[in-house]
Amino acid sequence: MSRYDRQMRIEGWDQEKVSKATVLVAGVGALGSFIATNMTLSGIGQLILVDMDTIETSNLNRQLLFRKRDVRKYKTEVAAKVLRRLNPDIDIVSLPERLETIKRTHYEKADVIVAGLDSFDARRWLNSLSVHLKKPLISGGMYGLMGHVQRIIPYDTPCFECQPLISQEKLSQACSPLGEMRKDQPKKPEAPMPAVATMSMIIAGIISQETMKHIMKLGEPLDNYLFYDGKSNTTTVLHLERKFNCPVCGDFYALDEATLTVEDGETIGELTTRVAFAFGLADPKLMLKGVILDKEIVISKKTLKSGSKLFVMDERLAKPLKLLIQTHKD
Ligand SMILES: [Zn+2]
Repeated sequence: MSRYDRQMRIEGWDQEKVSKATVLVAGVGALGSFIATNMTLSGIGQLILVDMDTIETSNLNRQLLFRKRDVRKYKTEVAAKVLRRLNPDIDIVSLPERLETIKRTHYEKADVIVAGLDSFDARRWLNSLSVHLKKPLISGGMYGLMGHVQRIIPYDTPCFECQPLISQEKLSQACSPLGEMRKDQPKKPEAPMPAVATMSMIIAGIISQETMKHIMKLGEPLDNYLFYDGKSNTTTVLHLERKFNCPVCGDFYALDEATLTVEDGETIGELTTRVAFAFGLADPKLMLKGVILDKEIVISKKTLKSGSKLFVMDERLAKPLKLLIQTHKD
């Protein structure tokens, strides 16, 4: 145990708890690779690395685990190899796949899920899964010299969807039939965000420390949203409140006013995809007057009238959502 001697001198540190814990790292980019490094150095029991991306030359300014010769290799594969050398005692699982396609058991056995994701959609997807599985989620993001960390304890602290700050634009896009979820419309490529090594280390350091604290029940946890401005070196902690009508973690939804616009010719399958995207759901079923609608049904005035109330059921929702249908011509 001499490897961990110095950290075990911290009052309240419990190395046995650390060595038995499993942490799932969603996204092994700048944040994820520093988080994984911290977990490995600290002697975590098991580390599950999930990322479908391969290494690009532009990652090398801030991603310590990767070298030039690793370009085009899977991030999780290279990271696992380097980390195993760093500390052979850690059980490291490399999953070069999409978050959505890995086995559910990987999430279920994690004590904490940590996320360093650059995609808004992936964050929403992971948030609703974490709430559904009641798994703590510690998530962070960066933009240049600004960064944030959010600690989500399902049904205790607000989840990602409880925040009124974001998501409205995306939500309205998804609620309109002309939104970007239509297959015939290619997604606009997003410009790469500014990113630097120092910020990655700071934000990943805070996420890692909150993760270790959670595992050991050590100290005061972040409650619950931290904003860090690297330009002025100031830290702001916001105590966000849960939203009682949050579609993911709320006890009560007041979504009768949520109007869903549909177009003639759209199928129930296409509509289901939009609803899944809009509310961060896994596999929603749409129900009309007690009947689950077949995905092949083509929407017309006969199949779905304006003013109809549609119920959305999904394993991640405690109660069905109610949506008011509006046809495009109204
Ligand atoms: Zn919520």
